[in-house]
Amino acid sequence: MKEKFNLIATAAAGLEAVVGREVRDLGIDCQVENGRVRFSGDVKTIIQTNLWLRSADRIKIVVGTFPAKTFEELFQGVFALDWENYLPLGAKFPISKAKCVKSKLHNEPSVQAISKKAVVKKLQKHYARPEGVPLQENGAEFKIEVSILKDLVTVMIDTSGSSLFKRGYRTEKGGAPIKENMAAAILLLSNWYPDKPLIDPTCGSGTFCIEAAMIGMKMAPGLNRSFAFEDWNWVDKDLVRQLRAEALSQIDQDIQLDISGSDLDARLVEIAKKNAEEAGVADQIHFKQMRLQDLHTEKINGVIISNPPYGERLLDDDAVTQLYQEMGQTFAPLKTWSKFILTSDEAFEAKYGSQADKKRKLYNGTLKVDLYQYFGQRVKRQLD
Ligand code: SAH
Repeated sequence: MKEKFNLIATAAAGLEAVVGREVRDLGIDCQVENGRVRFSGDVKTIIQTNLWLRSADRIKIVVGTFPAKTFEELFQGVFALDWENYLPLGAKFPISKAKCVKSKLHNEPSVQAISKKAVVKKLQKHYARPEGVPLQENGAEFKIEVSILKDLVTVMIDTSGSSLFKRGYRTEKGGAPIKENMAAAILLLSNWYPDKPLIDPTCGSGTFCIEAAMIGMKMAPGLNRSFAFEDWNWVDKDLVRQLRAEALSQIDQDIQLDISGSDLDARLVEIAKKNAEEAGVADQIHFKQMRLQDLHTEKINGVIISNPPYGERLLDDDAVTQLYQEMGQTFAPLKTWSKFILTSDEAFEAKYGSQADKKRKLYNGTLKVDLYQYFGQRVKRQLD
């Protein structure tokens, strides 16, 4: 089959650079674009990126790119791609997604149907099957995606299966959980390092704390789940086993992290504990039921990360205003602590009572949110 692949890691808007940094940290050269990071590599690269990238959504193989303004051009373009190098006889290959933006071809269901026909025809030809007889599709699944942007078609195969934010540790979620890869990305964007204390005073189902513990312990985020590529006949099972075993052996069980999560809702605290156990990081996190207004600490140079309720989702306006005000008052004495607060409330700073040092626009699903960043004052070293 194939040795070299053109690959992309998809990323939520605003997080591309974080994904790019993670790809480079794996020793892979890449280009950061809108919504995606491009790189190339072999089967090992596909396995490693799926296993290790904390902030990406999915890893996809780019099968080919070509211009098309008509259905005939689309058909011929898809037909010309080297499908025989990816799809064994018997493969299931739904065209799971078609997306057309600013293009002559805009009817997505037709784009799906034509693309399907073209792949079928190519495989019938390659495997010498009669044209009139449908191909059996009872084997491993290869989800094909067709995206057309300004008449340029990109055809991809998804290697991840379910999206990478699904780590496999979430037993139950609270009312408004943050996606695991978004939580990881925010931690990677922040100035938290595993040697600093971390507090999430509105921890809900515990996502920030769990992701931080996994980062601190060097635990690969994909260890607890499976991927679409694991069913593919040309992916060496021994290599997957070996890379999973290596990832397992890299987990630092001896590190002592200082991570705490608390929430008003005792039921969520129990869920957070269960999730942390499921993730294998329970020993590293101290969860308890507490109002954020009761947060005190003597520690210094820590990081607070919080994703408090936003108006339209969980609380009414007055309650949100009061909560943000009290949050400002509670956090104010913690001068050496950095604070990262994620909310969709555009009046957050006024309610909280101080202007952020930095703001970053992100998307929690389709909801626009801002990450308000307040950097802690450096403690001067005492000279004696
Ligand atoms: N990031 C969390 C979701 C946070 S949603 C996750 O991944 O699951 C906001 C959370 O703030 C809710 O769990 C809610 O119970 C909690 N909350 C609301 N008011 C609070 C208060 N005064 N003190 C502490 N937690 C509060």
